[in-house]
Amino acid sequence: MPELENKQETKSKNIKNIVKSNKVEQEVIHNSKPKPRNDILISVVIPLLNEEESIPELTTLLVKELNILCGNRYEVIYIDDGSTDNSFYVINSIYEKNRRIKCIRFRRNYGKSAALSVGFGRVRGKYVITMDADLQDDPSEIKNLISKLEEGYDLVSGWKKVRYDPISKTLPSKLFNWVTSKAAGIKLHDFNCGLKGYRAEVVKSLNVYGEMHRYLPALANWMGFKVTEIVVLHHPRKFGKSKFGMSRFINGFLDLLTVLLTTKYFKRPLHFFGTIGGLTTFAGLTIATYLSIEWMLGLTYLSNRPLTLFAIGMIIVGVQFISMGLLGEMITKITNENNKKLYGIKEILK
Ligand code: UDP
Ligand code: MG
Repeated sequence: MPELENKQETKSKNIKNIVKSNKVEQEVIHNSKPKPRNDILISVVIPLLNEEESIPELTTLLVKELNILCGNRYEVIYIDDGSTDNSFYVINSIYEKNRRIKCIRFRRNYGKSAALSVGFGRVRGKYVITMDADLQDDPSEIKNLISKLEEGYDLVSGWKKVRYDPISKTLPSKLFNWVTSKAAGIKLHDFNCGLKGYRAEVVKSLNVYGEMHRYLPALANWMGFKVTEIVVLHHPRKFGKSKFGMSRFINGFLDLLTVLLTTKYFKRPLHFFGTIGGLTTFAGLTIATYLSIEWMLGLTYLSNRPLTLFAIGMIIVGVQFISMGLLGEMITKITNENNKKLYGIKEILK
């Protein structure tokens, strides 16, 4: 009998073992479920045009900083915006050693906004940092941007309070920031700072083209995201020279108009064109009335007064502006009916 008992005991032990090992196996299977592929916390997007000298130093500083912040849960995406120097090859040699440093290379120079837009499409991190490649922005500021985002902001813009750029750039920039602040209805000191932090959902919702990169905080604000700014360190350019010439002012102004029209006045074009048209027509009519009274009193011959032409011109232009506004309203109405995705939705409880 003891022998039988022994046999039974060993049998039950075996069964237990099998169950146990099955459990282990199941656990192993369970644990070996492919981890969610995306474990990236911080994505850094860096547009660059001919910055071969800066890239190695910038990458070293960045990797050091990102390692401290999130171990290896980061990615750096360089966007080579049509460089004609060795920038791409420099990044390629870094990529060979560290696959977290990636690069997208454009066929030609499409501009900083295009580069950011493509970068934003690729990022996988929860937080997205953008910075310039010329070592003017300091990677040590990333932690401050992230901690501000963690406070609940959606976009944190850098403010180069102490700025190392020539006065030909800083002075117009002050004017630009003032005008944009007024137009955008959000007070920021430095809209165009390359160093910014975003929650991923912000960059996925922004539509960046033209030279719109200057207005990203304004666009995000209009979309209902929480925007703020922090003071950041700024350094003088170490290598090469600025890639934007005087054209920045003209293009920047035209893009402000686009931004205004596509956001603030997008749903009410008549308010924009109608106001300009109304004011112009009113001024034209006032001058015309004044001239008519003078003429009726026999004080003047209208053929002698160039002001007559001016008044007529203003009335015609004004009426045209109002018509443009009305056409805009019609287009908006059709677009609204075709596209319901015009409003940014944060959450839906179903
Ligand atoms: N840049 C770019 N494409 C361009 C012009 C500039 O990717 O067409 C990059 C440039 O290499 C740099 C950043 O945008 O990394 C900011 O440019 P820059 O330093 O010349 O601007 P600034 O500091 O003078 O405003
Ligand atoms: Mg720069």
